[in-house]
Amino acid sequence: MTLAETPNDKNSSNPFLTLNYETALESLGGDYYDEVAAAEFPQHLLRWRNDELLPRFGLDPQVVKDEDFIAAFGQFQGRKPLLALRYHGYQFGEYNGQLGDGRGFLYGQVRANDGELYDFGTKGSGRTPYSRGGDGMLTLKGGVREVLAAEALHYLGVRTSRCLSMIETGLPLWRGDEPSPTRSSVMIRMSSSHIRFGTFERLHYFQRPDLTKKLLDHVIEQYYRHLNAEEDKYILFYAELVKRVAELVAQWMAAGFCHAVLNTDNMSITGESFDYGPYAFIPSYNPSFIAAYFDYYGRYCYGNQPSICKLNLQMLQEPLKAIIDKGEMEARLEMFDEHYQAEYSSLMLKKLGFSELSHPQAAELLNLTVEFLKDSQVGYHQFFYEMARTFSSKWRDEPGFVMNNSDIVPVPGASGIFDDWCILYHQILNDFDSDRTNIISQTLAVNNPKTVLLRPVIEATWEAIAQEDNWQPFYELIQQIQSKK
Ligand code: AMP
Ligand code: MG
Repeated sequence: MTLAETPNDKNSSNPFLTLNYETALESLGGDYYDEVAAAEFPQHLLRWRNDELLPRFGLDPQVVKDEDFIAAFGQFQGRKPLLALRYHGYQFGEYNGQLGDGRGFLYGQVRANDGELYDFGTKGSGRTPYSRGGDGMLTLKGGVREVLAAEALHYLGVRTSRCLSMIETGLPLWRGDEPSPTRSSVMIRMSSSHIRFGTFERLHYFQRPDLTKKLLDHVIEQYYRHLNAEEDKYILFYAELVKRVAELVAQWMAAGFCHAVLNTDNMSITGESFDYGPYAFIPSYNPSFIAAYFDYYGRYCYGNQPSICKLNLQMLQEPLKAIIDKGEMEARLEMFDEHYQAEYSSLMLKKLGFSELSHPQAAELLNLTVEFLKDSQVGYHQFFYEMARTFSSKWRDEPGFVMNNSDIVPVPGASGIFDDWCILYHQILNDFDSDRTNIISQTLAVNNPKTVLLRPVIEATWEAIAQEDNWQPFYELIQQIQSKK
């Protein structure tokens, strides 16, 4: 089929089919993707529609019907071509040249009213040339987990993809990590781009600097537009990617989030977070915390995330060196730690109640906080939530009043650090005018929601679905996340 014949139904009454789809990726040509067909499913039960996202594409949630979601994103009526993107990647350090969209495809690209181009990509839509031994499907639990992670991270201020819809599809699936047969789903992910570090790695593997340059030009033109007219746009792009990724990891770390599978095919070229499989939010501060049961050596443990992402950026220099000077890229990568530290400090200080703390003791407060969280093993999220819940202007009066009304009970070994922490926090509070206390209280509240996607919370939500087909706890959980409660 030629591009001119693309049979998108402009006369359809389905608002998803009349969106103004752009062909940015498709126009790059067939070296980057394969045209595929979607699976046909025995059932289509719309389990989640993210109405919050619709106005961004000029759609009115009151007008868009459940059937419109099902026809577009479950039955894939009237939309072609569907493109499985080609990519490779380093998985747990080993190069894998057999990757690519194995259970998803690019459904379409739409410009939102912020002027940015977004990809609608599927997950669980059937087999493709890259499925290898897999069934091309997504379990319902996997869909539920990804919807939740994306919403939670978004509301925690992490730059992330989000899910537009999830439809249960009625197939029994067999998985080693879920009681099987287990239920199936197909999900639509809205992301800033489908292009990964691994997309470039594949082009390097096939020794195609021409295709690398074409893709890089495309990436800069679409996702780094402000650099497009710059003479040295390529190195500026790499420098900005380093900064975006460093800031992203800092956002995960402050949110207490462990992505779990930081392979280079899961690293977006726009520096956005996506693909939430065996992720976990840390129960307590433990750099060695491992989220994925198959991460035997803890390569992607919570505390390794900054160094792994930096390594992935370093490995990206291999394909990019056909276009960009390697020495210059190395120099720009050196900035990673500084970018990371600046963002991490700023986010953690916000969690501690201070939005712009240029206080001389800011670094000391941050170090002491992390030291206390690590030594005491109190709940990471609980600690900050308790600060927000119990904060009082009385804390200014005496160090002993700081958090004395909270549920935080430091273990005996960590009580010395806790006392030091209270003395320092009390001191910093007193360096501010008392009329700032309200702002501190608000900053604490905004940055430390009560609802956290700890494993037991997700499991309880899933069990209600699995045991009784009760979706109420799932909707309530999303509602709490979206209202930042
Ligand atoms: P992930 O671990 O989800 O990032 O997936 C890694 C690679 O395996 C990607 O290329 C996926 O498309 C592919 N993949 C994962 N699960 C399946 C499946 N059930 N069927 C086909 N391909 C899959
Ligand atoms: Mg992936």
